[in-house]
Parts: sequence; C-alpha cells; structure tokens
Amino acid sequence: MSGVEGRRALVTGGAGGIGGATAALLRRRGADVAILDLDVETTLRAADALGGHPVTADVREPAAVEDAVEEAARALGGPPDLLVNAAGIYRIRPAIDLEPAEWDEVLETNLRGSWLVARAFARRLVAAELPGTIVNLSSTAALVADRAEPAVHYNASKAGVIALTKQLAVELAPNIRVNAVCPGFIDTSMLRMMDDPEAGRRILDETVPLRRLGRPEEVAELIAFLSSDEAGYVTGVAVPIDGGGTVV
Ligand code: NAD
Repeated sequence: MSGVEGRRALVTGGAGGIGGATAALLRRRGADVAILDLDVETTLRAADALGGHPVTADVREPAAVEDAVEEAARALGGPPDLLVNAAGIYRIRPAIDLEPAEWDEVLETNLRGSWLVARAFARRLVAAELPGTIVNLSSTAALVADRAEPAVHYNASKAGVIALTKQLAVELAPNIRVNAVCPGFIDTSMLRMMDDPEAGRRILDETVPLRRLGRPEEVAELIAFLSSDEAGYVTGVAVPIDGGGTVV
C-alpha cells in the first residue's frame, strides 16, 4: 500500500481552509475521512461535500474530544490511524494590551486542543498496537516574530505545538510518527494581512521570496506526504511551508 490509500483519517478544523483542503486531498487519495469541527451545520456541509463523516466537538473540551474520536472510530470502522490537527484560532493583540482570558482561549484551542485530540487518537492506536501518523499545524509564527500583526499568545501556542510534536514523536515511536508543518501566509479566512490589500502586497514583496500567498492545497500536499508511507522515516520534524519567508 502506498500514499494514504485505505487509511482512516481524522482531520480537525476540517471545515476550515487548510483542514478542508487536506480532508479533500486525503479523500481523493483513497483515505476514508472524518472531519471534526465546531459548528454542526458547517461540519455536516463540509463532510457531505467530500463524502466524509462529520464529527462535531470543541477541541477545548476533554470529554467532547474523547466522544468525538470514539464517534469517528465508529464511522470509519476502526480507530483513526491518520490525524491532522488543523483546528485553530488566530487573534491579533499587542502583548501589553492582552488579557489573560484571551491568552487562555488561544492556548487552550491551539495547543491544549492539539494535545487532547492527539491523546485520544494515540490511546486507541497504542491499545490496539496499530501504526499511525499525526501532523500538527504549527506556524512560521513559532519561528519568527511578526511586526505587522502582534500575537504573542498565538506565537507561543504554535511554538508549543512544535514542542508537543517532538515529545510525542519520541513517546509514540516507533509505531506512530508525529510531525508538524509551519505554514507562512496561506490564503484562508484566517489570514488578516490581506484585509488591507496594499499593506498585504507590501509585506509579501518585502518578506516572502516567492512573492505570493500560499494556497491551502499546497499545505495539504505537504501534510499528505508526511502522513504517507513514503515519509516512513520522517518523525519529530517541523517543516516550514512559507514561500521562503523564514530564510530571509
Ligand atoms: P480556518 O479558520 O479556515 O480553519 C480553522 C478551523 O478550526 C475552522 O473551521 C474552525 O471552526 C475550527 N476551530 C476553531 N476553534 C475550534 C475548536 N475550539 N474546536 C474545533 N474546531 C475549531 O483557518 P486555516 O487557515 O485553515 O488554519 C488551519 C490551521 O493552520 C490553524 O491551526 C492555523 O493556526 C494554522 N495556520 C494557518 C495559517 C494561515 O495563513 N492561514 C498560517 C499558519 C498556520
């Protein structure tokens, strides 16, 4: 078997830009896919569109996450063996104006949520002695600071996702590989930079050697590769996909 054919995939944030593109690509490549997202209607529509299974949960809620992974296992006919942790939120706020509740919301969603879903996913695979893969969505915000859009809580959450990835890669080896991707500016509704197209254009020209936004489909390709058997010797890495934005 090659690629991701025959795998049982669970994609969190699967109704969103990157999660949606990833779920669709995995499906086209022969995986059975459950998508987990927050809103019932949106999740149902997104799952319908790609012939997948909808699962609704808030990744901040431990019990809801356990139930959702169990529900995904039922829908997929076995425990998911491919996890993509793409649920996330982005909030811009200068560090000195930030309130603790805002910090907690971002950390609980992006970092604790990724760990909760990974835990529920891995527990089942470990108990059944099955192999699997996890790809977590970090960000270039974990690697470099951002003058234009200050978001220390977001940056910290995404740096935490890299640490989570490395530690899980060690604890879950050799049966489960765990990697992260670090997207730069990707053209989804989460991206705020292009709210002001003129400023957005300037940022792209000055900071991104490839001088354009990335597409969610391009991130999906990298995630699908890291999830595939072809990446069988890759674990514990955080791969930038940013048009060269972190090399200059
Ligand atoms: P998006 O807003 O299109 O998708 C995020 C999805 O996560 C949404 O469908 C949302 O409903 C879901 N979600 C949010 N909170 C949730 C919760 N508590 N429980 C369950 N689901 C929840 O954003 P996107 O651009 O597709 O981002 C996907 C991931 O990629 C995020 O983790 C984001 O931080 C990361 N990322 C995005 C960019 C970018 O430029 N777009 C860059 C770097 C990293």
